[in-house]
Amino acid sequence: PKTPSTADSFEGIPTIKKVAGMSAAPRVAGKVVIVTGANSILGIGRASAHQFAENGARAVYICDYDDTNLATHKREIESLYPAVDVHVHKFDAADEKAVKAVVDHAINTYGRLDVFFANAGIVGKYAMFADFEKDEFMKVFDTNVASVFLAAKYAAPAMQKTSESKPTPSGSIIGTASVAGLRSNAGTTPYAASKAAVVSLAQTIAYQLAGTGIRVNAICPGIIETGMTAPTFEAARARGTEKKIGQLNPLKRGGHADEVARVALFLGSDEASYINGQAWAVDGGLSAGHPFVV
Ligand code: NAD
Repeated sequence: PKTPSTADSFEGIPTIKKVAGMSAAPRVAGKVVIVTGANSILGIGRASAHQFAENGARAVYICDYDDTNLATHKREIESLYPAVDVHVHKFDAADEKAVKAVVDHAINTYGRLDVFFANAGIVGKYAMFADFEKDEFMKVFDTNVASVFLAAKYAAPAMQKTSESKPTPSGSIIGTASVAGLRSNAGTTPYAASKAAVVSLAQTIAYQLAGTGIRVNAICPGIIETGMTAPTFEAARARGTEKKIGQLNPLKRGGHADEVARVALFLGSDEASYINGQAWAVDGGLSAGHPFVV
């Protein structure tokens, strides 16, 4: 005879223990999310803001030092997802006071902050290391690294304070690194070094936040067609050499911002509750090995 099923067992076999506070959908229900680098029309930041809004966020902060399109992005997200509050904040992601201010705004308005996606970044010029002046080098390095450091510095205590009321303390800080931070990358010296630093920050801060429930991860996009790379894609199209961009990639193509945004959504959600201190390559397999050329 079959053993009767209970909440704890099914026909005598223990049921899978679900983590308290998790639900299947919507994936980021009620969460308050900050995204930097969200102005670019083709960019990863804008695509991510859409993903968070579509998946039930309570509020999404779209931030950038260039606000050319932010008001339009806000209206678009609000028209598609009327339940979501969209806030526009114009600031330099490497400006300490401004980063603190946006975190304070979230806490003062909603009493919580769940996700800080520190995604803003610049690539700088393409040149060999010896062709960089120190100031040029430091400009790229400072923007890309300080923006992630400051996001963690102000988001972590805010998340910690407000997550105490949750069934499971949680918070997710995500920095956009790059495959250039994982592997040698000819021609973008300070960029590659800065993105390696972003990976290191995610690993280090994840450990330093031990016991808080706050997770810190880095996303490492490969070659994605965004505002940053559009000139390269356009030039290749004009020359008829677009296929070359994906030639060394196992998927034989560049990626789309939305393909990176969906990983940001996942890492920001409680579905990623046991993923911490990691660098997630989103690169079609580019960094998985070296091409076997015959
Ligand atoms: P993008 O240029 O389309 O978007 C970047 C956005 O960041 C822009 O809107 C820009 O105005 C903003 N920004 C730059 N510096 C800023 C600052 N100091 N303060 C506030 N905003 C700032 O490029 P993207 O590809 O969407 O870039 C997003 C992130 O992805 C960057 O960190 C970039 O380094 C990284 N990344 C991109 C690729 C790629 O192939 N596109 C690959 C690896 C990593």
